[in-house]
Amino acid sequence: SEILAGSILQGLDPDQSIAVTAPAGPLCILAGAGTGKTRAITHRIAHRVRSGQVRAQHVLAVTFTARAAAEMRERLGRLGADGVQARTFHAAALRQVRYFAPRLFDGRDMPGLLDSKARLVTQAATRAGLKTDREVARDLASEIEWAKASLVEPGDYATAAAKALREPPFDAAKVAQVYAHYERIKRAQGVIDFEDMIRAAIWAVEEHPDVAEQVRAQYRHFVVDEYQDVNPMQQRLLDAWLGGREDLTVVGDASQTIYSFTGASASYLVDFKRRHPGATVVRLIRDYRSTPQVVGLANAVISRARGDLSRLRLELVGQRPAGPEPTVRTFADEPEEAAAVAARCAELIAAGTPAREIAVLFRVNAQSEAYQEALAEAGVPYVLHGTERFFDRVEVREAMIALRAYRGDHADSLVPTVHLALERVGWRPDAPPAGGAQRERWEAVAALVNLAEGMPEAALDAFNAELARRAALQHVPTVEGVTLSSLHSAKGLEWDAVFLVGLAEGTLPVIHARTPDAVEEERRLLYVGVTRARHTLWLSHASARQPGGRPRRPSRFVPSAVPDASGARPGADGRYPRRPLDKAAVAGRARRVMAVSCRVCGTGLVNGADRKLGRCSTCPSDLDEELLARLVDWRARLAGVQKV
Ligand code: ATP
Ligand code: MG
Repeated sequence: SEILAGSILQGLDPDQSIAVTAPAGPLCILAGAGTGKTRAITHRIAHRVRSGQVRAQHVLAVTFTARAAAEMRERLGRLGADGVQARTFHAAALRQVRYFAPRLFDGRDMPGLLDSKARLVTQAATRAGLKTDREVARDLASEIEWAKASLVEPGDYATAAAKALREPPFDAAKVAQVYAHYERIKRAQGVIDFEDMIRAAIWAVEEHPDVAEQVRAQYRHFVVDEYQDVNPMQQRLLDAWLGGREDLTVVGDASQTIYSFTGASASYLVDFKRRHPGATVVRLIRDYRSTPQVVGLANAVISRARGDLSRLRLELVGQRPAGPEPTVRTFADEPEEAAAVAARCAELIAAGTPAREIAVLFRVNAQSEAYQEALAEAGVPYVLHGTERFFDRVEVREAMIALRAYRGDHADSLVPTVHLALERVGWRPDAPPAGGAQRERWEAVAALVNLAEGMPEAALDAFNAELARRAALQHVPTVEGVTLSSLHSAKGLEWDAVFLVGLAEGTLPVIHARTPDAVEEERRLLYVGVTRARHTLWLSHASARQPGGRPRRPSRFVPSAVPDASGARPGADGRYPRRPLDKAAVAGRARRVMAVSCRVCGTGLVNGADRKLGRCSTCPSDLDEELLARLVDWRARLAGVQKV
């Protein structure tokens, strides 16, 4: 097994090898983006398992997203170390609480997970005498989430919020009241939220010696990826699991701290050596992901960082062969920017870059729509990353509950019954005039009606059973497409070609980043974005959101030394020379697009099997003829290019 373990060391540089072979005990890998941190911990686990130092089932690897966890399990499998638990904090907590539920809850089951947080927050706000709309409810919910992740109780909220320079939507004392009501209502309903799940896991270990003993016998070796974004609540769970033991490996990059607005803190990473004086600290600086050109831009972006975390930044040294210079482009408005990005994606694909190796990254989800439209228009398939799945949508869940609860005595067939049940919860058969999120919600419920129309003779029970079956089968479709993602959910990932779009003041930094710390976090977001690219990197911004709209300046974070695609450099005002624009073409393009993406979930692609069946791979709706025709067309075009 020593020979086998030795083969795991191949493909690592000397610094990575030190990290992989360091003996048991606290280990901290501090390193910049793309230096192989995730690779090093994966190999470290595999090496320790294969050389017989630890048993796979005693290792707990904590990653930031379910996707990262799945990737790590797969990689470990390939390295011959199956059976290691790689999970998010939430998944590990959920599993633990579920397992010990009878002991923790006097023989009862684990409490159910809160169904609609927005509704409960709104209720709590009403009790506190506040009027809210969707947006305010969302802001209140983030304040409550922040407080809980920071281990701040309602009584301490006001002081803590002031200290953390929070900007709550109301006076802090009022928000504290909403928070207290929220907790009370939740308890009365016998449900728990996401944060409660972690709290329950902490409480289970801290207050139940028998549980602690069993948990600690199971988990003996700990590994945490993306440790710069751990929050106090998660750290406390980690401490509870450890119970004073120190076989812990953490890896992180302070320059990639992008979740501090939700309560995460890089201080645990930064102070690791102080908390664990015997710790080995390994630094990695060789960047294996990106070309020297991309690395150069990443260094330039982060070299201007200010504030506490900036002294921890590490200059990256690119290891890969040279590639194209990153380019910066300026457009008149967002539709023009999106159309250009889509056209460039199509070119890259035609030239042989697989669509899954391309990503378009944006700061706020509202930006995604323009890119969905433009990609659909250009016939480029795409996948939305990190957005809600159809059956997880609040309105879909509410509709399904209403259908299950419906006891109508409608004698006709299914469709009028479904209509009646849904109209009772506020849905109307006519599409709302407004677009955007409201329309999206309407379309989601309309998809359920469509489904009913496809089985008009069925009874309501049979229809509900069909919905339940589809919801249970829900899986993230493995489809080939350009990734559309927020910068936040892109962390840890990499693509051959990356488009960073909408880099304008007000979007990056986002308008509500008002404190210096908040602005620095926005700069780190750009650093995360830049370092996702292996080879081709495009940065762009539009001078106005809408055609003829209010002018916006390019983001202050984009170094002005970057030439644009034609080699032009920005003038004294930071602007690049503008090319003349064919307004008519852009407008015509923008109007035709809606018809081609999936009506329901907006995804513009399907996998081969679903294409034959004429249905969307993401949600349970059928695709219209035009989209199908375009997909076929796109494939034919691509096949033609490849033959040449
Ligand atoms: P991030 O900070 O973005 O999470 P990271 O430090 O975790 O990045 P990895 O994702 O582990 O970096 O590695 C980046 C890329 O470099 C991956 O494609 C990985 O396979 C490759 N890589 C890492 N180390 C080496 C090496 N020694 N030789 C060749 N390729 C490597
Ligand atoms: Mg990583």
